[in-house]
Amino acid sequence: MAQKPSKIREFQKRFPDEDSCLTHLMRTRFGERFTCFKCQKEATYFRVKARRSFECEHCGYQVYPTAGTPFEKTRTSLRDWFYVMFLFCETRNGVAAKEVERQLGVTYKTAWRMCHLIRLYMGYVDGDAPMGGPGKAVEVDETFIGGKDKQGKDDKAIVMGIVERGGDVVTRVVQARSKSHIVPHIVRFVRDGSRVHTDEASNFKLLKEKYGYDHEAVDHSAKEYVRGDVHTNSIETF
Ligand SMILES: [Zn+2]
Repeated sequence: MAQKPSKIREFQKRFPDEDSCLTHLMRTRFGERFTCFKCQKEATYFRVKARRSFECEHCGYQVYPTAGTPFEKTRTSLRDWFYVMFLFCETRNGVAAKEVERQLGVTYKTAWRMCHLIRLYMGYVDGDAPMGGPGKAVEVDETFIGGKDKQGKDDKAIVMGIVERGGDVVTRVVQARSKSHIVPHIVRFVRDGSRVHTDEASNFKLLKEKYGYDHEAVDHSAKEYVRGDVHTNSIETF
């Protein structure tokens, strides 16, 4: 797993510290200027010192660019994460957790987890190929990402995820959690004959009735999370 020295130098120059990584994450996820989630004005967001956040120039609303990413709840530095992602980009035949353990001086468990999550996300970046197929289980779920409050109000983006158990992941930002916004993505990314697992069955009736999927749901509002092998734990974990 030898990297070209020039490539490593390039990486080190571009991402010399935590700040440069955090700023990159912010710009990649939200762009240079965007409509503030709170005051709704077109805004530039400035870095907040001593926090991993940026604030709106008008109202001071803070956005944490790591929210909803694997970097959110981890003691591993962003720079270490970025370095391992760099290894993934530069290495054709895969990155071994053992090697990450050695290069970063982290535990094997940490190294393995980093590699695992990066692989999942790269699956998303690479592949918008259809997933599932007859008999295969695919889970669908939506979640709110971004901002500070945990109430899931309008100031957050809604992201839907589709994951084949043990396989690929696709995520998409959607306008609303209604079936008209969710179902078209399922039809596009999930092959005929798949077993589609969701929560809240009512929203997804037409998966079976119109599109012929083998659809099964757990009812989270009734505190049902697992019934046999019917659950959405894989996508929620993702
Ligand atoms: Zn604002």
